[in-house]
Amino acid sequence: MAKDNLQFQTEVQQLLQLMIHSVYSNKDIFIRELVANAADALDKARFESISRPELAREWEIRIAADKDANTLTFIDNGIGMDRDELINNIGTIAKSGTKAFIEAMKKKDEAKANDLELIGQFGVGFYSAFMAASQAEIITKKAGTDQAWKWVSEGKDTYSIEEAERDDQGTTIILHLKDDAKSYLEYWTVSSIIRKYSDFIEYPIKMKHTVKKDDKDVEEDSTLNTMKAIWLRSESEVKDEEYKSFYQHLGQYGDPLKRIVYSAEGTSEFKALLFIPEHAPFDFQFTDRRTNSLQLYVRRVFITDNCPALLPDYLRFVSGVVDSSDLPLNLSREMLQDNPQVHKISVNLTKRILNELTKMLENDRERYEKFYREFGRLIKEGVHTDYANREKLQNLLLFETMNNPSGKLVTLKEYRNAMPALQQDIYYLTGDSRSALENSPHLEILRKQNYDVLFMTDPIDEFVVSGIPEYESKKLKSVNKGEVKFDESIQKELEEKTKKAADDNKSLVEAIKKALGDKVKDVTFSSRLTESACCLVGGDADPSAYMQRVLKAFNRDTPNVARTLELNPDHPLVAAMKRLFEKTPDSPKLTEFSEMLYDQALLAEGSPLPDPLLFAKRTAALMTFSAEKEAAE
Ligand code: ADP
Repeated sequence: MAKDNLQFQTEVQQLLQLMIHSVYSNKDIFIRELVANAADALDKARFESISRPELAREWEIRIAADKDANTLTFIDNGIGMDRDELINNIGTIAKSGTKAFIEAMKKKDEAKANDLELIGQFGVGFYSAFMAASQAEIITKKAGTDQAWKWVSEGKDTYSIEEAERDDQGTTIILHLKDDAKSYLEYWTVSSIIRKYSDFIEYPIKMKHTVKKDDKDVEEDSTLNTMKAIWLRSESEVKDEEYKSFYQHLGQYGDPLKRIVYSAEGTSEFKALLFIPEHAPFDFQFTDRRTNSLQLYVRRVFITDNCPALLPDYLRFVSGVVDSSDLPLNLSREMLQDNPQVHKISVNLTKRILNELTKMLENDRERYEKFYREFGRLIKEGVHTDYANREKLQNLLLFETMNNPSGKLVTLKEYRNAMPALQQDIYYLTGDSRSALENSPHLEILRKQNYDVLFMTDPIDEFVVSGIPEYESKKLKSVNKGEVKFDESIQKELEEKTKKAADDNKSLVEAIKKALGDKVKDVTFSSRLTESACCLVGGDADPSAYMQRVLKAFNRDTPNVARTLELNPDHPLVAAMKRLFEKTPDSPKLTEFSEMLYDQALLAEGSPLPDPLLFAKRTAALMTFSAEKEAAE
């Protein structure tokens, strides 16, 4: 077959441009990336060889420097690639992290060297080779096949592929080094980079070099890494630096916020090294599960980095390694899904992670809040989905509250402990934003009683609280739903007032109800208003107005649930409408004002008006009337 010239995907071209012109100071990381790829290829081949023993080899990664040819070569006897895989894996970008990197770069001034630090953090894989190489060749043969392929590119827009020879399975990557990258031909340079970034790689990384022995040059073959699986070493033996580079090896960027080193014994034996990241990655989708950063090993043999059963979905921010002593090696990936041993590990790890988070909350609040601001949503998801750990998860929730300044977060326990003695329930209010909530008429009476209210501004919050009917024997109550209950003494006074208002205004209330028709469930007098004229209140079990808006935004078909219009018995408008009603019971103004009251209640809670133009017209008419009246006085 002849040589084919092919184009890189546009995104690859952009990335290569960045690599070629990179002024990134730490070019060393390309070695880390190529070694990581080789180790992955060996992992895959080793896994395959469990069912196909003919693929088993003496696994190794080899690096060779040729000063005459000016090349640095990486060789592995792993899984290799066929022609299609070469095109799909190297010619296109599949990894979302790399895509996110390109996006991040595009947004920034590309000339700035410090932005390029991102390269090291993201780990852009194979392409990083072009920071050091002016040309790269890949010669690869897929394990179990007979045909090898050669891929060549100068890192510009195109690459070529042709048939080639290779003795055995695996991949050889030959880098023709740029002039300013010649130092990578030195054994000591390469070996120190390997020790820094890839020491824990479980396969020997070998390199030949010449040493002087008795004044003669002798060639020695050395293994550059210690190959000690980092998760099997005791925490006191491992330097922070090593943990950090392992974290990056897992495809994470930046620093971990917390690491968890765990060794379980007893009914289930496993070791785990887990990381909680400092930041959610650019591409972190709260709805997608990130699968590739939590690896499952069985007795040091890599099995998969896609084992959703290993941790519940809501803990998908956790990355790391779990190495089990009990699982059989020949377990298929599908079977892992409902394996009781895996389930045990999951239960165990979940408990451990939640305990660590609890400790962080108690002892290092600042760090915990940092975590919560990034991943709090997932904790909420956990409250909703992980029944067994609900209590622990509830205690990990943080909320802003009415009486605390914006940005200050409190736990349910802190709220509970600060409740005035007479307060019966835990109050919350859901809405778009803090400022929208702060103006809500529903808060008026609570503010007067000096009660606090949890502010919930995340659309998922309402689902979450629906799963927490009670916290430490106090009911969680939405202040815009159902009745607000106070201590008996206050309650009695309020009830008497509303009852008297209801008795005094029976016919007016009837008239308003008639005017509003099926827009409202009822019209009553309120005990929760001190300033506003009215508000809308839902039934205890109804979704709040905010939730209805959220559901609508997601295109869910949600019926409008009619609510009760509550009037403030002390508001002068009510008294004025009563006088008008008594004088002219069929005045068209009564209908108009009833509708305006309803619209005001919608506005106050942040709901859209059914007919904003009509409302504006009516307000303008009232303003005109009032202005003319004052002018005439
Ligand atoms: P990543 O390794 O993060 O997926 P890369 O750009 O480094 O991204 O590599 C892309 C893909 O190319 C890899 O996922 C793998 O499928 C393939 N690949 C790279 N190097 C090798 C190798 N030495 N042996 C086999 N496949 C490889």
